[in-house]
Amino acid sequence: MRLILIGPPGAGKGVQADFLTKKFNIPHISTGDMLRSEVKSETELGKMAKTYMDGGKLVPDDVIIAMVANRLKQDDAKNGFLFDGFPRTVLQAEKLNAMLADLKVTVNAVVNMEISDESVIRRLCARRVCPKCNSIYNVLTMKPKKEGICDKCGAAIIQRDDDREDVIKNRLSVFREQTKPLLEFYTKAGLLFSVNSGRDDAQETYLEILQKLNVS
Ligand code: AMP
Repeated sequence: MRLILIGPPGAGKGVQADFLTKKFNIPHISTGDMLRSEVKSETELGKMAKTYMDGGKLVPDDVIIAMVANRLKQDDAKNGFLFDGFPRTVLQAEKLNAMLADLKVTVNAVVNMEISDESVIRRLCARRVCPKCNSIYNVLTMKPKKEGICDKCGAAIIQRDDDREDVIKNRLSVFREQTKPLLEFYTKAGLLFSVNSGRDDAQETYLEILQKLNVS
């Protein structure tokens, strides 16, 4: 299975990615997680990327494309993958098509995760993440069992630097201007379907995705 999740920040891409990668036994490729790991390790790439990420802007296409090209060469991506947060521009999508054509494989489906701006802002202000294992929580709707502690690995959960209201607004306008054109790109390719991602119960959205993939 080769899947792409498209949606604004806070649509729940990470949570659905978690469900879907377990279901299909495929690697979860999140360019945001890859970049945050570079930032944490204070690499040159991480330092450069942070200047964009902190302002809610996109990291330049050439950097992202090189990172994804390397990731796709790893063995675990040979039999399938799920992209979360990539591609985010038409150029990235075109380059991905070229990479997949070289590998003689195609994407099965692109999921458009729909949610209103108001819900995104409400959700992201309440989002907490685990800096160690990247698990995602919400202090209102998806609380960890023990307050402030990751259920999966026991690390202290934190608020992301870019989950502040001013940065969220920038990320939403970047999504509208640079990522939304991808919806037409993948509709023309006959790959896109949309799901309601504004529900509090992520499980319902997951079932809608499976139904639209014709998988039980
Ligand atoms: P995410 O975790 O997907 O919300 O990504 C966090 C931040 O990383 C974004 O706001 C961008 O600054 C950067 N980023 C992640 N993926 C991409 C991408 N495909 N293209 C450009 N920038 C990206």
